[in-house]
Amino acid sequence: MIDLACFSREDYDLLLEVAVRFRALPSTGPRRIPALQGRFVTTLFFEPSTRTRSSFEIAARRLSADVLSFSPAGSSLCKGESLLDTALTYVAMGADLLVVRHCSSGVPAALARDLAATGQGHVGVLNAGDGLHSHPSQALLDLLTLASHFCPQAPTTAALAGKRIAIVGDVVHSRVARSNLWSLTACGADVHLCGPPTLLPDCFVDFVRSPPPGIGVDPVARRGQVRLFRQLDAALEGVDAVVTLRLQRERMREQLITTPESYHRSYGISRARLDRCGPSVPVLHPGPVNRGVELSGDLLDDSRRCLVNVQVANGIPVRMALLYLLAAAGN
Ligand code: ASP
Repeated sequence: MIDLACFSREDYDLLLEVAVRFRALPSTGPRRIPALQGRFVTTLFFEPSTRTRSSFEIAARRLSADVLSFSPAGSSLCKGESLLDTALTYVAMGADLLVVRHCSSGVPAALARDLAATGQGHVGVLNAGDGLHSHPSQALLDLLTLASHFCPQAPTTAALAGKRIAIVGDVVHSRVARSNLWSLTACGADVHLCGPPTLLPDCFVDFVRSPPPGIGVDPVARRGQVRLFRQLDAALEGVDAVVTLRLQRERMREQLITTPESYHRSYGISRARLDRCGPSVPVLHPGPVNRGVELSGDLLDDSRRCLVNVQVANGIPVRMALLYLLAAAGN
């Protein structure tokens, strides 16, 4: 489970269907279901995380899997052990699902390939965010959040068809934006990308028209359109939802905005701006948020317009569905 470029609309619908079932499980009484009893999930995070790691671990526990959480600090990586040998150590201890986050693009894919080459191809590798490349579980929880907002009774890909979604901000450094582009256009939504040239190069309009090597053929017959905007007010015209992105300063090698204040004036989402889109248009953000920069503080705290906490809550059933389906595929 490396990225969403190979996902068909049917794949998205299956994932949503399973996630909705997990979401409907009663929140009181015994919350565990025995679906992954006897399975062993290890989270290997080589980059900081609050939501994704906890959410995967809660999801795995709700499915009754054994869970182990690896952190590089204090591990034998400091003594020079390779990432593959570290993973193989956990496999030798029984891990059969590895949830991997890394600051370099391509690490989960390389790990999956190397595990297969060492005869451990049955071990599932789940990408929890790699560099600029992909963050599939985030895009899937965004999809569930949007589909549930547009069509609470039937949150399927059909709920996204013909919708217009703006993605605003630091697109160039965002693996979330890249994964959202695959998922939203696959479901027939049109995407308005918006940001300054330093954070949104022109080439992004073609992103989903060139499936990565190895896939070659786009599994989706008709995708939504992607348009690029420099002016936020033009990008927000007629949209059904707005996804804002964090300014990823840790990935910026140079100064790409003048000041956070001027960025907020040009690309920040305030209540007034969102109100101009319409009273039921929500704003999403993958978190963590730079409060007052990408989103004004009052909007962030308004759970009727800002779905950040709904996204976090939906992360658990979505990751349960991913673990469940991946474990089933490995059987
Ligand atoms: N949490 C998301 C990620 O890991 C978004 C972000 O960090 O801005 O990519």
